[in-house]
Amino acid sequence: MRPEVLNRLFTPVGDVKGVGPRFAKLIEKLAGPLVVDLLWHLPTGLIDRSFSPKIAEAPAGVVATLTVRVDGHAPPLMPRHPYKVRCTDETGVLELVFFHARGDYLQKQLPVGQTIVVSGKVDRFHDTPQISHPDILSAPDSATESEKITPIYPMTAGLPPKILRKAIRSAFNELPGLPEWLDPSYQRHQGWPDWKTALTACHHPQHQGDLELTTPYRQRLAFDELLANQLALALVRLSQRRLPGRAVVGDGALRARVLAALPYALTTFQDGALAEIYADMAEERRMLRLLQGDVGSGKTIVAFMAMLNAVECGHQAALMAPTELLARQHYQSFKELAATAGLEVAMLTGRDKGKARALVLEGIASGAVKLLVGTHALFQDDVAFADLGLAVIDEQHRFGVHQRLQLSAKSRAVDVLVITATPIPRTLTMTAYGDLDVSRLIGKPPGRQPIKTVTIAIDRLEEVGDAVQRRIHDGARAYWVCPLVDESEASDLAAATERHATLKARFGERVGLVHGKMKGPEKDAVMAAFTEGRIDVLVATTVIEVGVNVPAATVMVIEHAERFGLAQLHQLRGRIGRGAAASTCLMLYEGPLNETAKARLSILRETEDGFLIAEEDLRLRGAGDLLGTKQSGLPGFRLADLAVHAELLEAARDDASLITGRDPDLKSERGKALRILLYLFERDAAVRYLRSG
Ligand code: ADP
Ligand code: MG
Repeated sequence: MRPEVLNRLFTPVGDVKGVGPRFAKLIEKLAGPLVVDLLWHLPTGLIDRSFSPKIAEAPAGVVATLTVRVDGHAPPLMPRHPYKVRCTDETGVLELVFFHARGDYLQKQLPVGQTIVVSGKVDRFHDTPQISHPDILSAPDSATESEKITPIYPMTAGLPPKILRKAIRSAFNELPGLPEWLDPSYQRHQGWPDWKTALTACHHPQHQGDLELTTPYRQRLAFDELLANQLALALVRLSQRRLPGRAVVGDGALRARVLAALPYALTTFQDGALAEIYADMAEERRMLRLLQGDVGSGKTIVAFMAMLNAVECGHQAALMAPTELLARQHYQSFKELAATAGLEVAMLTGRDKGKARALVLEGIASGAVKLLVGTHALFQDDVAFADLGLAVIDEQHRFGVHQRLQLSAKSRAVDVLVITATPIPRTLTMTAYGDLDVSRLIGKPPGRQPIKTVTIAIDRLEEVGDAVQRRIHDGARAYWVCPLVDESEASDLAAATERHATLKARFGERVGLVHGKMKGPEKDAVMAAFTEGRIDVLVATTVIEVGVNVPAATVMVIEHAERFGLAQLHQLRGRIGRGAAASTCLMLYEGPLNETAKARLSILRETEDGFLIAEEDLRLRGAGDLLGTKQSGLPGFRLADLAVHAELLEAARDDASLITGRDPDLKSERGKALRILLYLFERDAAVRYLRSG
């Protein structure tokens, strides 16, 4: 049960005074559905009317606030040039400059003729004063907001800033005083105020410097959030550790047969990871381990050996993949591996219906099925295992802590091995997988040739076409990845369909197309044709990003590489370089590139090390974006920014482990306050894992 003091914060934003249903919707979209979300919606700018010169008197290089009239809009004539809005007062002209702006939004926000208050650093460009990306108040405020300083919040179209500020003020009226959950000596050492003071200060910046992520106020809030995250994971971990496990030590017979049949020897990293896994399984408690390794690093065989260990003991072992496509692929590779030990593999996905499904379910329930591959369909209610010993989750950032927990509830003592092919920085591993032990596969199996990565301006598409044609003529197979046009899948699809048509016209019939909108069997058919070499070129949207394994493919073209994220490009490129033949990746970009895009492409040219790329990605982008946290189910942070607050994360982790060591059921005074913290950050699921809720 949520502590009563927090109840007012967990009511819908629509209940806040002065927010009607229409605005409530917009606020919900912007900040979140609850009053507490308004508290986390922090200002990113401010308007300080204490220095408000006329345009002609505004000194260059100094932040000033000016009251001006909108005179006209000048949309960019060239792509990537800024959008400019011309403003005036009686002393001169001021240009507002916006890069990557949405014209229609600015037209609405800054109608010609309107008087506005703008704030920002004044620069002079060819003698014209300019402010880039100013903070804006759409109307000079009157009596209602008489403060000299107004915080500027991130906005969404259609929501008047005044309404948002009012809603946030009302949320503050609901603000309870909360008991301190920080360790007193740590708090003193950091010089941090209490929670309420910190939050209030963050919403009432007095100077530009107050908006930085490194103020004591902001650091305190960031730490609170990180502590909630780390404590929740520590509690989950603890509760899993308390569940009964069993010692799983197979006789090695099946594994020996499979190993003998492999055309290669395991690498030292694979052997090392397996040693850790076997040791975990051998213990009388549950294994909770993450196997992290770059694309193509050889995780599949490691997972399979672990599964055989369970099967040797008479238990069942299942692998859950994030997509149908991947489930099928794992099924194929497992089938080949299993055959060498005389074993069968069953598959269960959402696509299996009726009799076929019933048959598999029966086998799972009777224990006849020992090795099983599937999608999350595996862990639905009607699937009952006779004796599941090991669950392998091929995670790819699509499952979260909750699914992992659901799964371990499937049987009395399941060992869990999570595998992920997306190398993520250590800090992110801590926030996402803090409940797991980690094994890493570093590098690639021997015998691979490095991928040659070339970046080429997209206006040389013709030459690229020629080059690909030559390679195909020599027997190569190629992926051709189409650009993300915008957020919508429909336009991605249109681009891919068009490219498919033009490549077909050029290369002939042996060109296939695969995209996210395709039905399962259709997709399988195309993938099979590509795998078996009945088509040479596979045009694809990013559906091929994850896990697809066609070792014979040695060429990849990525159109508009500048539109993809670094990690995504790395994942895509990982589809080639999987066999013994040399591979080439052609990244086509449209210039001019901004600094970040340039840096991204050059990192990819320089290295194939996924962990290094991930660290660079974090540096270039910040953690928020890194994994597309929203879609991924990974924890997203509202107040903490891992690119800035990594040290706080370490501290939060240490603190969480001290807390669970000393007060595992959060019963002390501080423990009770920490429960409130967990609820405050909606990590209350973790509270259920306490022995006394
Ligand atoms: P991923 O980590 O992406 O799942 P895979 O397990 O699919 O990578 O391995 C990629 C390829 O490397 C597969 O074709 C596999 O057969 C091969 N492979 C795995 N381990 C080794 C090894 N020790 N030596 C040589 N090849 C290996
Ligand atoms: Mg065990």
